[in-house]
Amino acid sequence: MREGVCELVSCGGAPSAQRKGWRPYLARFDEMKATRQLPSPTGVAMEIVRLTQDEGVSCGSLARVLMADPVLSGKVIKFANSALMQTGRSVNSVQEAVLRLGVGTLRRIALSFSLVSAYRQGRCEAFDYQAFWSRSLAQGVAAQELARQTRLVPPDEAFTTGLLAHIGQLALASVYPDKYAEVLRQAQGKPLEGLLLLEQEVFAANHCELSAAMFLDWGLPAEQAVAVERYVFGEPEDAYEGTKRLVRLLRVAHLVADLCLTDSQRRAAVAQQLLARAEPLPLAPLQLAELFDRSAAEWQSWGRILDIRTHSVGSIRDLVQQQQAVSSVATNPAEGVSSDAAGPKWRALVVFADLPPGPVLSETLQQAGYEVLRAHDAETGLALVLEALPQFILAPLQVRSRAGAAATPPAWDALRWCRQLRETQVGRQFYLLLLAEQASEEQIVAGFEAGADDVISWPLAPRILLARLRAGQRVVELQREIEREHEELRRVTAELAIVNRKLQDAALTDPLTGLPNRRYAFERLQQEWHEATRHELPLSCLMLDVDHFKRINDTHGHDVGDVVLQQTADLLRQAVRRSDVPCRIGGEEFLIVCPRTNLQGAATLAERIRHLAEQKVWGTDKTQMRVTLSVGVATRSEKARVPEDLIRLADQALYAAKQAGRNRVRCSS
Ligand code: GH3
Ligand code: MG
Ligand code: MG
Repeated sequence: MREGVCELVSCGGAPSAQRKGWRPYLARFDEMKATRQLPSPTGVAMEIVRLTQDEGVSCGSLARVLMADPVLSGKVIKFANSALMQTGRSVNSVQEAVLRLGVGTLRRIALSFSLVSAYRQGRCEAFDYQAFWSRSLAQGVAAQELARQTRLVPPDEAFTTGLLAHIGQLALASVYPDKYAEVLRQAQGKPLEGLLLLEQEVFAANHCELSAAMFLDWGLPAEQAVAVERYVFGEPEDAYEGTKRLVRLLRVAHLVADLCLTDSQRRAAVAQQLLARAEPLPLAPLQLAELFDRSAAEWQSWGRILDIRTHSVGSIRDLVQQQQAVSSVATNPAEGVSSDAAGPKWRALVVFADLPPGPVLSETLQQAGYEVLRAHDAETGLALVLEALPQFILAPLQVRSRAGAAATPPAWDALRWCRQLRETQVGRQFYLLLLAEQASEEQIVAGFEAGADDVISWPLAPRILLARLRAGQRVVELQREIEREHEELRRVTAELAIVNRKLQDAALTDPLTGLPNRRYAFERLQQEWHEATRHELPLSCLMLDVDHFKRINDTHGHDVGDVVLQQTADLLRQAVRRSDVPCRIGGEEFLIVCPRTNLQGAATLAERIRHLAEQKVWGTDKTQMRVTLSVGVATRSEKARVPEDLIRLADQALYAAKQAGRNRVRCSS
């Protein structure tokens, strides 16, 4: 049911109901974009999105860009290898991986991963960043599972759309942290529609519209943008078929996410809503229950991969069975439910549906409970294959005009059509039947060679046709199972890639304070140095040392000394700007790399840190003490021609600060 939604639409607040063509929220989006605070994918991911907008982009240039981000490159290679399991040929270079995955998949991977990892926290107090990603992930995974099961849209497209459908919230939280916190407080306890309307009032744009604008800005297809813009308020009647399908999927995925996150008291109610909302999808209730269980498990696995908080969720099988029992009593029991209706709804496409034997076939299939799609010619057939992703395709081997019609039959090369279809990635998934009038041996062999799964001679009894289709159903089911197993492999390899990255991170992190270590500090300084030289930007660094630290260790013990080091790290993290990089480079020595900062700016920061340390009460609850810091500051100049010079100058300045009596800042002149 979607009670609340209808009311809201009719009270005139729903933005999508009133708007045609021009979209006023784009003005708000432009304004937000100008602040440069919008969540955006990393530079490399963005560059990939930008490059992939141009269809003629070469794989070589994509690979070059990708290689600038080793973590992402690793992930892409693993993905490519998991997709390759079928052929056994493995991919070893970024370039091969790009070729293998294709432009679309590459763009999706780059976008999702870079966003999730970059925006785990922020300044908007009322916005729970962790919960946001947890929910988004549940919706993304559910959309992907739904897509896989129903074949309404390609699964990875569904994943991205589900994952990022509410990214507009993150945008509002980033650009207007205080104002949005207020909106969130006001909307607390209200349904999502209520929040959207409130956003609309305050910002002249709701977050789903902003998600849509961001999708377009990142070069994602308009179909996906329109779907996220409008899905909360129901299925848009005036949209394209592809958009409508995505909307149907997102609406169900949204409730799956709700059900993952809801408390035990509301579970039954949400499950009932889910069943009702999934009705337009070709899914039986028990299949939906299984799908839910799979999504919940996937949610947890992906949560581990992406470091997003999730929890275990109980199965809804029992709930669904109970509700089915209730509803079958409520509907007229005398009518009964045919065994076909309870099972999956299969989709079959009949090509040349109005030439013989098309009409008879369509009729037979429909009566047997198949959802029948009819194409009147080869081109429409191909378009429907891609759009509706049917499980079965039935095409005649040769066409002839209807009895008595004078028109010449259309030119049709069934074997070629078959071969072309099988050459494409999607074309391999269908169960393809060719029908030949009184098929000859040659025709049957040629049909199979062109890639048909079955060649049937007609006329034949409907029972036989249906029996052969049931055999086909088993093949399709098996294929689905294999796909799921591949997906599992893909997940495991992705998980391995993450473990690898964590190991890499660990090698560059100081375990006591969690700050980057000496090795990272020097590598980073090198990087920033090149950046600064290339763009003629200032670059400074601060060398800090805890005063009389040995005395702290000697007086209070090593453990308290460790606490002081951790507190120093916390103090530095709080004091610096986002672009500054504080690191622990030795026992009680710290280095802060400050890009785009001149000597004066760095000196101000140094003084702020020194002052904070002096004011602070240090140590543990039991052992409190005063601690001071000495700081040396240096900046890139005539005197510092290589990064090592900068370190040396900062070190000399630190030495001067110690000499002058400690607890002070000295700058390298
Ligand atoms: P100054 O004001 O001149 O800097 O004096 P100081 O005592 O701080 O300088 P010194 O370099 O002589 O002492 C540093 C001490 O830091 C010596 C070493 O035992 C201690 N230290 C090094 N690493 C650690 C650590 O990880 N934990 C603890 N608790 N102490 C450490
Ligand atoms: Mg010291
Ligand atoms: Mg020291």
